[in-house]
Amino acid sequence: MKRILAALLGCLLVAFPAAAQKRIALSFDDAPRGAGAFLDPDDRAKKLTAALKRAGVKQAVFFVNPGNIGQPGHGDGVANLDRYVKAGHVLANHSWSHPKLGSTDADAYLADLDRAEAWLKLRPGYRPWFRFPFLDEGGKDKVKRDAIRAGLKARGLINGYVTAESSDWNIESLTIAAKQAGKLIDMKALRDLYVESHVEAAEFYEALAIKTLGRSPAHVMLLHETDIAALFIGDLVKALKAKGWTIVTADEAYADPLRDAAPDTPHAQGTLIEALAWEKGLPAPRWYDRNDLRIANPLFAKRVLGEGK
Ligand SMILES: [Zn+2]
Repeated sequence: MKRILAALLGCLLVAFPAAAQKRIALSFDDAPRGAGAFLDPDDRAKKLTAALKRAGVKQAVFFVNPGNIGQPGHGDGVANLDRYVKAGHVLANHSWSHPKLGSTDADAYLADLDRAEAWLKLRPGYRPWFRFPFLDEGGKDKVKRDAIRAGLKARGLINGYVTAESSDWNIESLTIAAKQAGKLIDMKALRDLYVESHVEAAEFYEALAIKTLGRSPAHVMLLHETDIAALFIGDLVKALKAKGWTIVTADEAYADPLRDAAPDTPHAQGTLIEALAWEKGLPAPRWYDRNDLRIANPLFAKRVLGEGK
């Protein structure tokens, strides 16, 4: 009997080898971000902080654009960043003014990044990580790509890379547009679309990571400081946990050996897993399909607005 039980256990372990090992950290970009469809930015920060606490998320990272502070419609940026840090979260650099590397020369780009770094370094909760705006690491321009990589290294910064995303910024902007147009928004459907898209994205990039790296890395999910995050992050965390994910700290995620990766691909942009898969020659698709707005937008219209049914 014991032997049969042991054999059964062995089968289970073979069938579900990595089920308990899927790890993901949460990152929120563009803080302090402009107002969304529903909440005042200060109220949004309070709700997001409380929701992360309720969901048991000990440490997320907020990638900050200090240039947003004091801009109309962005709330009390400093107070809201302090609120996140007091709750255990950390802050890192997303540039001062959110430039696109493809249309900025390397020196100007680094100067903008330095301006943000000078502000951030004095803050509690600071981490030496840089998240490329638009995940644009230089596109086809390898000279520029390498100049920024060297610039980060010289400053003691690492790339605050992303391994999983589902264009939450687009769901937020479609929601704002719908609200402004006076359309009826099905909030339950909005929640379900947001949650489902991000859980599917995590699963997609985990499968791609295993094919590419032969192991499950600590992932980093790209999100933004949005109203939909403030309203639904608890639902997303719950759904991730139901699929076997553990939410880890940003510190744990960026201690992964992935931090040293510098993939060489024909076009430097997007998630790190996608780039590494491309470098290795793995076939497309190397990105989760709802990042294609031609797929995401009709889904939003149909499910959240009830159009085209
Ligand atoms: Zn951004």
